Amino acid sequence: MLKDAIVGLAVGDALGVPYEFRARGTYQAVEDMVGGGFHGQPAGTFSDDTSMTLATCDSLRATGGAVDVDDMRRRFVAWMERGEYAVDHRMFDIGGTTATALRTGTGATGTHDNGNGSLMRILPLAFSDATDDEIAQVSAITHAHSTSCRACVTYVHLARDLAAGISVADAIARIEDTAVPFTRLHGIADLPRDEIHSSGYVVDTLEAALWCLATTTDYAACVLAAVNLGEDTDTVAAVAGGLAGIVYDEAGIPKPWLDALRGRDIIDRCLF
Ligand SMILES: [Mg+2]
Repeated sequence: MLKDAIVGLAVGDALGVPYEFRARGTYQAVEDMVGGGFHGQPAGTFSDDTSMTLATCDSLRATGGAVDVDDMRRRFVAWMERGEYAVDHRMFDIGGTTATALRTGTGATGTHDNGNGSLMRILPLAFSDATDDEIAQVSAITHAHSTSCRACVTYVHLARDLAAGISVADAIARIEDTAVPFTRLHGIADLPRDEIHSSGYVVDTLEAALWCLATTTDYAACVLAAVNLGEDTDTVAAVAGGLAGIVYDEAGIPKPWLDALRGRDIIDRCLF
């Protein structure tokens, strides 16, 4: 089940990488895994979203499931400085908040520091016994503002519900935190595409990912919907794809995409 989630996240990430920063509607609807784009990577290359998720996974594997934020931070730094957990040992993309936090050792606390940089890497905690406080502490390694921490807690709860076999609609209905700025989550499936924003703001990313999951009925449709929203394509597709991996299993991911995914050996050695 962890494997389904992580592979689902990685495939979504790799699908979205070539389209990152592209505005919605300015490219032909994406249907397959390709290379190129802003980052110029070969097809199937995952980015920071997956590498930091794998670092989190590897930490939980090493500790036997215990949350050790210092260990996780060290692994993030190893990724940033030496390309650990990256395909070809090459880190080609890092968020500004994440880079600053890893250099200074302190997560950002400002209202404007609520990018999706902790949400995109938090999924492995769904497969641990981490408490809400611990989930927030893991977010706070880089993103310490309450909005980022709350988004991570909500996402981990959703993933746990889906892993327990609860339907997507019921899991969304069970979201506990729908106070500002999370007021739209319960009704997300009913919103038209025009009202879904796919920016790097953590609330936008969580909404967009849930919208893609709730309005589609298979893995491919979910992650393609995410990539075709534009803007932060790789992260929205990664956040959506992680949940879709849980719902539809690795067997539900198109085989050509699994075959094209690079760095599968890195994924396999970080699982627990
Ligand atoms: Mg990325």
